[in-house]
Amino acid sequence: MRRVSIFGATGSIGQNTIDLIARDPDAYDVVALTGARNVEQLAKDARRLNADVAVTADDTQLDHLRELLAGSGVDAAAGQAALHEAAQRPVDWFMSAIVGAAGLAPSLNALQQGATLALANKESLVCAGSLMLATAQGHNARILPVDSEHSAVFQGLVGEDMDAVERVIITASGGAFRDWPIEKLQDATLAQASSHPNWDMGQRITIDSASMFNKAMELIETKEYFGVAPSRIEVLVHPESMIHALVGFHDGALMAHVGPPDMRHAIGYALHWPERKTLPVERLDLAQIGALTFRAPDTVRWPALRLAREVMERGGLSGAVFNAAKEAALDGFIDGHLKFTAMADVVDAVLTGMDGHGGHIDDKMTLDNVAHVDHLARIAARAEIKKRAG
Ligand code: NDP
Ligand code: MG
Repeated sequence: MRRVSIFGATGSIGQNTIDLIARDPDAYDVVALTGARNVEQLAKDARRLNADVAVTADDTQLDHLRELLAGSGVDAAAGQAALHEAAQRPVDWFMSAIVGAAGLAPSLNALQQGATLALANKESLVCAGSLMLATAQGHNARILPVDSEHSAVFQGLVGEDMDAVERVIITASGGAFRDWPIEKLQDATLAQASSHPNWDMGQRITIDSASMFNKAMELIETKEYFGVAPSRIEVLVHPESMIHALVGFHDGALMAHVGPPDMRHAIGYALHWPERKTLPVERLDLAQIGALTFRAPDTVRWPALRLAREVMERGGLSGAVFNAAKEAALDGFIDGHLKFTAMADVVDAVLTGMDGHGGHIDDKMTLDNVAHVDHLARIAARAEIKKRAG
């Protein structure tokens, strides 16, 4: 039996992971499941999968979680120390699917124990790419990408030599507002930004798809994970979300990864790697689909893409600053303090403001220093949000 833990089990990626694991219960020994606010779901899955421990990040929910798990044999725990302890329990396969920078520490813990890390939490690579890779190398651990574009690139590179790669193209659906007139974008509401045309995902990544901050994060992820120069990474708008990425080779070939917009493909690939197993995903009927379309990304509509390029050029801890400012700006939009289009202005201002003396962007990449710049960037972002709240 393979020992597995799922961090962020109650979220969209976590639930899709559980869906796959629950289909073959005899194959897996579930060690830890974690969530935050949704303790009902956490307890239900922990019972069903007979986990060793269920952890909620939210301390105030511990008593409730204990009641829900009474008599089940599953231990209940809460808070940061409990998450840390659970992430150190030995496993063969670890799903990192907490949303936000909070996912970084568990990702590192998983690598430190030498587990195979299925990485959905894109913030881990954006905030601390070189630290993640060095930790994996130092502990003989492997990182398998779960973000669909990166899983697609990873699959496109099997058996290939990186020297033969001319470019990597990640696709973007364009999110909720790809066809909106640009002048209307500033009035986009939370409800409008929270609905994705093709993918069913958590609210935060759905809004990030509408603003292209998601694709901006993925550009940085691509550079960090595959070590491809930024000038060789392209974004292509592809509204149908059938091709997830393409790898271009020096001989002119473009290898495209085509698949249904269902995260169980990328999760399942990481779960069964290096094998391919049957997965419960739709079999695409290309004759029925008829046509796939592509457009160049509009950098006026999506300034986040330009900001990601600046971060890739800048290096150091600028990814952590970018992510923290983006998370704070997203909170500002969700809470109604910031207009949709002002999120990019806030991130831009924080990146500029912290890129100098006292910004700590050139500090050594350690978990503590990442946490420190994250903290500073959130303070700076909140000040920028206040200025714009008028
Ligand atoms: P969701 O919002 O659906 O789920 C997030 C999970 O993290 C939940 O289990 C949530 O618990 C938990 N959580 C939230 N805040 C904290 C915290 N501060 N500490 C610990 N746990 C917390 O997100 P998604 O599943 O959509 O995304 C997860 C990650 O995967 C993100 O990094 C996202 O960018 C990435 N990703 C997602 C894709 C998708 O299709 N959804 C595709 C590619 C990448 P609870 O719900 O109980 O509060
Ligand atoms: Mg993606």
